[in-house]
Amino acid sequence: MKTRDLHRMEARHDLMKSHLIAPHRHDPYKARGKLREPTVCNRCGAVFAEGRWQCLDSVPVDAAKQTCPACLREDDKYPAGEVTLSGKFFQNHKDEIFALIRNTQSNQSSEHPLSRIIEIADGRDAAVITTTDIHLPRRLGHALEHAYKGQFHIAYSEGEYFVKANWHRDA
Ligand SMILES: [Zn+2]
Repeated sequence: MKTRDLHRMEARHDLMKSHLIAPHRHDPYKARGKLREPTVCNRCGAVFAEGRWQCLDSVPVDAAKQTCPACLREDDKYPAGEVTLSGKFFQNHKDEIFALIRNTQSNQSSEHPLSRIIEIADGRDAAVITTTDIHLPRRLGHALEHAYKGQFHIAYSEGEYFVKANWHRDA
C-alpha cells in the first residue's frame, strides 16, 4: 500500500472516530436504521434477509436495491481488517501461502458473502492482506496456524470496527 493511501486511511479513521463511532464496535459502513428486507446488493448480489447478508440462489423480485458494506469498502479501499504476513518461512513459501489465503476466503464465501479480501499487497519484507470485515482475519490466521503453525496474533480495536492481525514464521 502506498504511503499516501495510508495517510488517507488514517485521516478517515480519525474522522470516523470523532463523528460516527458509538461506544461499541459500530461499523460505519453498516446502514443506519433498519434495512428493508429483502434488499439485494446491486454490485455483488448478496441478499439481506432475516437480519443478515446471505448468498441466495435466486433474488426475490420485490427486493430493494442497495450497495452492501463490503462492496462500499472495496470501492473505498477502506478495510475493516488487516493481516500482515512475515518471516523467512513466509518468504520461501509465498505462493503456497497466498493460495491458502485465497482458498480459505473462497471456502467461506457462500456462508459469509461480505467477508472478502480487498487486496494482497506483497511488499519486500512482509505482505499485507486487507479484508472487508473483522472476521476474515481470524479465519485466515486459524488456517495458517493449522497448515504451518507459526505465530498468529490478533487485536481488535477498542470502540472501532477494525482488527489488526499478524502471522509470522521464520524457519
Ligand atoms: Zn455487495
